[in-house]
Amino acid sequence: MTMFQNLHRSLDQGQTLKIQCEACDHLATLTAADAKARCGADATPMDIRRRARCRGCGAEGRVRVWI
Ligand SMILES: [Zn+2]
Repeated sequence: MTMFQNLHRSLDQGQTLKIQCEACDHLATLTAADAKARCGADATPMDIRRRARCRGCGAEGRVRVWI
């Protein structure tokens, strides 16, 4: 599990961003392009965590984020 500053600096082509719900363990894996398109290239882990909404159970702001 790697902490990072923001997507632009840390997520290279071919890498994926993992977002896992702390409530139900639903795991979403985004490609670098998808993650930057959806979250913004300057998004930090805190930004993503705050905005994320689980597609499994609907919980908001309760996710783990890593590359
Ligand atoms: Zn969930």
